[in-house]
Amino acid sequence: MTATLNQQYVPAHGVRAPAGRAPSLRIGPTPVLAGIGVGAAAVLALWWTNTTTISTLGDYLTNAGRITGLLAGYGVIILLGLMARVPALERGIGTDRLTRWHAMGGRYTVTMLTAHALLITWGYAVTARTSVVGQGLSLVRGYPDVLYATIGAVLFVIIGIVSARAARKRMSYEVWHLIHLGTYLAIALAFLHQFSTGADFAGNKPAQIAWSTLYGVVTLLLVWYRVVTPLRVAARHRLRVEGVRQEGPDVVSVYLSGRYLDELKAEPGQFFRWRFLTPDSWWASNPYSLSAPVSGGRLRITVKEAGGHSASLAQLRPGTKVMASGPYGAFTGGVRRRRKVLLIGAGVGITPLRTLLETLPGRPGDITLIYRARHMSDLVLRAEIEEIAFDRGARVHYLVGTREQLGGDPLAAEQLEYLVPNLKHHDVYLCGPESLTAATRDSLREAGVARRRIHHESFEF
Ligand SMILES: Cc1cc2nc3c(=O)[nH]c(=O)nc-3n(C[C@H](O)[C@H](O)[C@H](O)COP(=O)(O)OP(=O)(O)OC[C@H]3O[C@@H](n4cnc5c(N)ncnc54)[C@H](O)[C@@H]3O)c2cc1C
Repeated sequence: MTATLNQQYVPAHGVRAPAGRAPSLRIGPTPVLAGIGVGAAAVLALWWTNTTTISTLGDYLTNAGRITGLLAGYGVIILLGLMARVPALERGIGTDRLTRWHAMGGRYTVTMLTAHALLITWGYAVTARTSVVGQGLSLVRGYPDVLYATIGAVLFVIIGIVSARAARKRMSYEVWHLIHLGTYLAIALAFLHQFSTGADFAGNKPAQIAWSTLYGVVTLLLVWYRVVTPLRVAARHRLRVEGVRQEGPDVVSVYLSGRYLDELKAEPGQFFRWRFLTPDSWWASNPYSLSAPVSGGRLRITVKEAGGHSASLAQLRPGTKVMASGPYGAFTGGVRRRRKVLLIGAGVGITPLRTLLETLPGRPGDITLIYRARHMSDLVLRAEIEEIAFDRGARVHYLVGTREQLGGDPLAAEQLEYLVPNLKHHDVYLCGPESLTAATRDSLREAGVARRRIHHESFEF
């Protein structure tokens, strides 16, 4: 049964952070990348200070193995840190960029890890004048920590293969996620061999303390933000489903109520990961953006059916308990630099833009929304978008139909320039299916919009 909310959502135009509230901390890409670079340099310095002469082939191979091993050990913990859901990083860098960094760094780290295992074994074999296979066997037989590390490395490689785009598309998100959680086990298995057999750590107490502190801090961040925070939010805010409203043939809005919601500091454009505590879906936590600003003790998401979880939302009953983690994402007014703003949304990608349309500061004429859909029925939240646009003096352009019906790509550079005079002086917020947003980013670049002023939220991980 679908519980239906009959009242229309009442837009709260110009909603801002409550006066006097401290701005939320944001850490942008530059300091984070610089910090990662400095850490990598410190890791190389550790190797340098522990190395005397390198003369034979065995030395060269073993030292290449040590360097790749140190960088792989550093890489895995940085990769976990990026995914710890630290609010300052989420706000300053954004989830989708952090995820891209994680995926790219993961490929390098798995490569380095494999190189480490091969080079160290090969180097020892050359020095001891034995075969590589014989040397490998004697290492795993003679040193239990190396055996555990080898199992960890195999796990890493399996996770790396499973995470490759082509393999990922063949399995459900939940199965992929479960396998990915094996990373924690792999890191635990590999940790000890670094201290017991790693030439840079064995007997080097300061290095061991620094390395353990790095691993300890990241573990604490993960536990705090991925486990404790959602439980704390559940206890403090007592989120419940208030009702569900059908917005279109396969789109619903879910209204949620709770206590002290302004403490969440959710900014328009951000999203939460939602866990609805029903017998069928309590185990799944899916990301959905807020489709209205937080207001009057209420949150709202608007969801299009894509699979099991999104489809099940239409059946939610009022009173269902909800756990939410967030808010996440940098797709907010915080990244805006120009007075003029263009919002481009496609399909259900309109949800965060609908919230930004209402709340981004601006005078009449400053904000333009382009809403792309294949069919009229795909235009969701249309009535309230028009009401907000009317009140704020914002322009709205609907681009509805297939490319054939519209005589080409309606989001091509010249079309955009025609619809939005002075396009290159706008900040652009873009949200929709990956293929469309990639093509539209190219169009915007062609029209002269600087890369740093194209803000993009992807609904795909
Ligand atoms: C930042 C962000 C904001 C989003 N906001 C909205 C929104 O406002 N409205 C809306 O309709 N959709 C939104 N989505 C998309 C929505 O999360 C997926 O459509 C939904 O999770 C699909 O789950 P499913 O079980 O229904 O379908 P499935 O068939 O299980 O999944 C379809 C696809 O969704 C992705 N997906 C599934 N589960 C997850 C998960 N737990 N975490 C991340 N990705 C997952 C996978 O890439 C998968 O291929 C958002 C996605 C992201 C990443």
